[in-house]
Amino acid sequence: MWTFITNDAEQTRQLAVQLAALLEAGDLILLNGTLGAGKTTFTQGLGVGLDIEGRVTSPTFIISRVHQGKSAESPSLVHVDAYRIDGLDDLETLDLDSSLEESVTVVEWGEGKVEALSPSRLEIGFEVPSYDEIPQSEQEDEPRRITIEAFGQAWQDRQNQLESLCRGWSGGKSNV
Ligand code: ADP
Ligand code: MG
Repeated sequence: MWTFITNDAEQTRQLAVQLAALLEAGDLILLNGTLGAGKTTFTQGLGVGLDIEGRVTSPTFIISRVHQGKSAESPSLVHVDAYRIDGLDDLETLDLDSSLEESVTVVEWGEGKVEALSPSRLEIGFEVPSYDEIPQSEQEDEPRRITIEAFGQAWQDRQNQLESLCRGWSGGKSNV
């Protein structure tokens, strides 16, 4: 498990931009953490790093949104908000299986719901330190503790890259 501290929303986006450089089609990423912790903000950075069409916004009412990659080689980003999903049936309606191979699939609130989609995945946790998990205000910049856990063979081969991402992280843009 790798731990990162970000001091504001921009640093959270920059961390995601750096992580995006390691991603490939077929990757599944679960984003876990309370409302306002920074899951969508992080996904915006993934979108920038993956160079996708359109802007990433909160998909809460749409549940799932597909952003095509701008170039033919770049994977699309499938951005899912699983907050309202509680059964396997609901999940199957989204048909994430069929897009998984050619996309980077990012699922907010995915814990306990979408793990079965792939044995290889990243689980990224967002914590608001020292505020008892409740962000002070949705807009105000505050620190977040972001943890990345990697599972499965697909990440076995990328352990070193995650390691150097963590070593090089000093917050913000300095090492982009
Ligand atoms: P979630 O998707 O987890 O519900 P959002 O990303 O939509 O959360 O909202 C996070 C909010 O917290 C944004 O308004 C953002 O500006 C604010 N914020 C403050 N500090 C940070 C930080 N360090 N990282 C991410 N977001 C932060
Ligand atoms: Mg969100």
